[in-house]
Order: sequence, then C-alpha cells, then structure tokens
Amino acid sequence: IQIYLNGQYVSKEEASVSVFDHGFLYGDGIFEGIRSYGGNVFRLKEHIERLYDSAKSIMLDIPMSPEKFEEVICETIRKNNLTDSYIRVVVSRGKGDLGLCPTKCPKPTVIVIADSISIYPKELYEKGLRTITVPTRRNNPDALNPKIKSLNYLNNVLVKIEANQAGVSEAIMLNHQGYVAEGSADNIFVIRKGKIVTPPTYLGALEGITRQAIMDIANELGYPMVEEPFTRHDVYIADEVFLTGTAAEVIPVIEVDGRVIGSGEPGPITKKLLEEFRKITYTDGTK
Ligand code: PLP
Repeated sequence: IQIYLNGQYVSKEEASVSVFDHGFLYGDGIFEGIRSYGGNVFRLKEHIERLYDSAKSIMLDIPMSPEKFEEVICETIRKNNLTDSYIRVVVSRGKGDLGLCPTKCPKPTVIVIADSISIYPKELYEKGLRTITVPTRRNNPDALNPKIKSLNYLNNVLVKIEANQAGVSEAIMLNHQGYVAEGSADNIFVIRKGKIVTPPTYLGALEGITRQAIMDIANELGYPMVEEPFTRHDVYIADEVFLTGTAAEVIPVIEVDGRVIGSGEPGPITKKLLEEFRKITYTDGTK
C-alpha cells in the first residue's frame, strides 16, 4: 500500500517516523479513523472538522488547509485503488529533542494510511456482544478532554485489556462521577420503552461521528432521542443497548456485567438503526 507521509507517498516498508517524534515519545498528537463505502468517504467533512478542532485544542498547527487535507485523503484512497476502506489519519507534533517542550518540534508529522477494511464478523451483529463495565474511568474533561481525539489512548487500551481479561469483547467506561461515558472506542446508546438515550459528551466521551449519524437517523424516523446522563443501573434495565463507532458501525450489546439486556438478542430499534445507517454510508459524505 501507498502511505501519505509528510507530502509524499511511500510504501509500507518505507513509511517510518523518527524515534524523536513526540507522537511516539509523548503521545503528543491527534488522529482520526474514517471509512469509505463504495467510494464514498463517510462524513469526511465532519472527520476533518474534528481533526482540526483537536489540533486547535492542543495548539498544533496542521500544515495544510482542511480542503487540502480532504484531497489528500481522497487521493490516498485512489492511489490504493480502494472503494471500501479504513483510513487512519495521524498528525503528531513531529520530531523534537528528548524534552517534552513542543517548541522544539518545528514540523508536525502528517500520515494518512488507507487500507482495506477488516470488518467485524457478521455473527457479532446478529448475536450481539457481551460486555462489562471496568474499573478504569474515562478521564475527566478538565484534564485531557475526551473530546480531543489525541494519541493518548492508554485509558482506552487499559479498558480493552480489562475486557480481554474478563473474556468479553468490549467494555464500558464510567466517568469520575460514576455516570456511563462510552466504550473503549465507541459511544453508547440505551433504549427503554422506545426512548433512545446517549450520554451527553460533557460527561467524558468523544463526539462520535457515528453517534451523530445515529441521532440524525433516530430524529428522521421520529424515534424519541435524548442526550441524558445515566448510570449502570439504567444500562442493566434497558430493553436494548448498542455501541457506535467508525469501525464497529452499530453493534448490539446483549450482556452487561452478567445482566442480560432485554431478550438477550439484538432489539428491533437497534436493528432498524443499523439498517438505516448502512444505507447512508454510501451516500452521506465525499465521493
Ligand atoms: N469514542 C472513542 C474514545 C473513540 O476513539 C471513537 C472512535 O472513533 C468513538 C467513540 C466513536 O467515534 P466515531 O463514531 O467518530 O468513530
């Protein structure tokens, strides 16, 4: 595959960055995960906007315009002859010295990797996931705000480790107050008596692009949809629970902390939302 690295396209073997890159030394940088479906880059503008918002928040100047960045992403997909792909965008502070001060890093490192997508097995969508809530808390928004899609994903990695150790596929993080925040790399929704609820992102969650797409679809279908804080108890007693994310799309959850959710099978509203979501992935975005 051809990888975009600082203005050039290089092979996978040649695509490497310095050990002095502060993205590596300090997790100083930001990223995006994007998908294309049948040549349509799903909600590319929204991903670009979030990338630039993350950059602004950490005072990182991306050395090109958002419009140019969109072109680079589309060009990277074209160069690799992909129609259905997963695109990883990384912008790090760049090469500096061993100190953490970012002023020693004159040039950000910009990477775009477009690769063929490895989709979760179909069975997972039909049967749903078993999950747990974990001891690791989502970081407090007054520390590193979870709205920044930064390269500091240790929290999320720890959550994945906790899930692995418990023998489940995904885990749910609470915030410092005990409210439900999100999954390791997915937003969470619960449904009870027809009402769809997702935590407000100020509780400590990424403003997911898929999350927004699902809220848009729910509104269009006329389903009651709100952003409200909720606790583990509300998850346990929900009729349906699902997670959303670029990689996972909409994935049903059928068990949380040993409690069976609803009937123990993916629910009708979750199924409908997934179906509608899959339709718009081919049209909503940039060709
Ligand atoms: N939450 C976190 C922490 C994530 O890393 C992601 C991944 O992208 C999401 C939620 C889902 O966001 P999106 O739907 O934009 O992919």
